[in-house]
Amino acid sequence: MTFEELNLNKQLLNALQDLGYTKPTTIQKKAFSVVMSGQDVCGIAQTGTGKTFAYLLPSLRQYQYSKDKNPQLLVVVPTRELVAQVVESVQQLSKYLSLQVVGVYGGVNIKQQIAELLNGADVIVGTPGRLIDLLAMNVIKTKAIKKLVIDEVDEMLNLGFRPQLVNILDLLPQKRQNLLFSATLTEDVEEIIKTYFNQPTRIEA
Ligand code: AMP
Repeated sequence: MTFEELNLNKQLLNALQDLGYTKPTTIQKKAFSVVMSGQDVCGIAQTGTGKTFAYLLPSLRQYQYSKDKNPQLLVVVPTRELVAQVVESVQQLSKYLSLQVVGVYGGVNIKQQIAELLNGADVIVGTPGRLIDLLAMNVIKTKAIKKLVIDEVDEMLNLGFRPQLVNILDLLPQKRQNLLFSATLTEDVEEIIKTYFNQPTRIEA
């Protein structure tokens, strides 16, 4: 199967072509139709399986352009390194789309990130603690957020981010799609799924 056979648009296909990618990986194939259908998704996938594009491709495919520039997609990840990687992936895929992506993480001055967010962010990628700070300051507007991705959730919980993650989940609009990716499904992860997800479809790389 090639990317041409997925219901992508020209902009995304061209971006993939520029990257030299022709075939979706297993997790990308499995995630595409399920994410497009609007169901909650729980994906078991390690780094290197193409999991980032697995959630980004359908999410960017379904992006609804609007004038008010409120973010529609929020990606929560455990580390600043992963923020940088996911931001880069969004930039690669949105090369022919007019989308602004902003990455936020702790340990650096918050002012620059506030300025970037106020300048307009369609997609936000961040670590839990810094996201909570920015949500509390009302710099991140939640009302248009349609999809939430929690990536490497097992790692996030290992690092002790459960309180912040749960706080974020409680602050987002009720009517949204939840996507979760994890290398392993620990009891902690299952508990988050049970409490916050709506009959998720499970997929594996
Ligand atoms: P990930 O599992 O998301 O960390 O991705 C691992 C690497 O695979 C990244 O460098 C991606 O750019 C690359 N990649 C993602 N999708 C594909 C694909 N369909 N074909 C080839 N490489 C890919």
